Amino acid sequence: MYVILKVILNSRAPGFGHSNKKTCLSNLPDLTEFTHHFNVLDNKHYTDSTGQFNALSPERLFAKSIRLHYSESTLRKKSQQVDISKRWDFRFMSQNAASTTFIKTFPVGPLQCNCTIIGDKVSGEAILVDPGGSPEHIMKVLDEAGLRVTRIIHTHAHFDHFLAAGQIHEQTGAPLCLHPEDKPLWQNLEMQCSRFGVPFEPVPEPQHWLEHEEPLKAGSVAGQALFTPGHTPGSMSFWFEDNNLLIAGDTLFKGAIGRTDLWGGDYPTIERSIQSQLYTLNESATVITGHGPSTVLGDEMRHNPYVRALPK
Ligand SMILES: [Zn+2]
Ligand SMILES: [Zn+2]
Repeated sequence: MYVILKVILNSRAPGFGHSNKKTCLSNLPDLTEFTHHFNVLDNKHYTDSTGQFNALSPERLFAKSIRLHYSESTLRKKSQQVDISKRWDFRFMSQNAASTTFIKTFPVGPLQCNCTIIGDKVSGEAILVDPGGSPEHIMKVLDEAGLRVTRIIHTHAHFDHFLAAGQIHEQTGAPLCLHPEDKPLWQNLEMQCSRFGVPFEPVPEPQHWLEHEEPLKAGSVAGQALFTPGHTPGSMSFWFEDNNLLIAGDTLFKGAIGRTDLWGGDYPTIERSIQSQLYTLNESATVITGHGPSTVLGDEMRHNPYVRALPK
């Protein structure tokens, strides 16, 4: 914990700026980018980019997010190079007027988990992925798009991907879906919240347990759930081939992978999952990650400093 905070503080050294080139891990967290997404109300109170109130300062929230998603060993590997992306741009949106598919990704909750809505504008059905907070904002996006949620699917059962799940389920009646290997984590959501100092929001037991290669449908939108354990025992990724879109949760990040030293995580397993399940998909696919910027799958296959594609 101390090491990580020290790294974060070091990153504020004068002269550090945004760069297109690969940046050493000692410069990884860029607080100026992160705080950009917050409105400071006074010295103690903030709202995030969705208007949600946060009592913690952006620095504290960022420290929590880094602590959850990057292991200490990862942060210590200063010889490794990580592309922190030119900008800490959390958003991904695709609304091709010619397409009948609505896709929107936006950061929610105290750890700014990327929540995605993917729906069919004709039938009005939509799949909601990882409602990690800001339930009012999620409902507003759905209302404005004229969509109704028919399934709430989770990449995994870390609390930051679940905080609004109970409220959205209550308001929409849509079933909560999760891989059964993450049931113990779902049972421990309250403990996870207390460990990270985040208020717990009760979530009912998932009504549907996802399987590997299970089809995901919302009107004309068709996807597939892929079992990609490693970050957690039941981590899943969601592949929408027609949209060339992969939702990878915390399994794969732009220039990084999910940490594996928490609650059942396993490094060889995440490596195997990424290589066998993700790096075998279309290279040109857009990857929506669990936090932070999206990426292109082929870029990670060739340049990810932790897991590269196996030679063909
Ligand atoms: Zn996670
Ligand atoms: Zn996460």
